[in-house]
Amino acid sequence: MHEMAIAQGIIDIAVAAAQREGAQRITRINVVAGELRGVVHLQLTFCFGVLAEETIASGAYLNLEITPIKGRCRECGQTFIVEDYQYVCPGCQSRDIQMVGGTELRIRDIEVD
Ligand SMILES: [Zn+2]
Repeated sequence: MHEMAIAQGIIDIAVAAAQREGAQRITRINVVAGELRGVVHLQLTFCFGVLAEETIASGAYLNLEITPIKGRCRECGQTFIVEDYQYVCPGCQSRDIQMVGGTELRIRDIEVD
């Protein structure tokens, strides 16, 4: 279950950032994850809840925003959103596609008290 490792990473970063700001408690964490990461929201929320106990992130709301897979055509240079895992350029039908989005995983921001 890779959500456990992801949740731990989120907590480590968020707690460090909150402590730098002198915050007492984290109330919300907004996470951006690319679709290719295959993060299961329910599992991530569960892991986060377990791991956040005893930290200042305990009880924080974990908001997960999934960003779409993006590809760039090596033939015509068009950038487009890949739907249903169809790696075909909508402009020229080329299958020579470079992935340019969908693998990111980052904390966009956190809200603290
Ligand atoms: Zn193309």
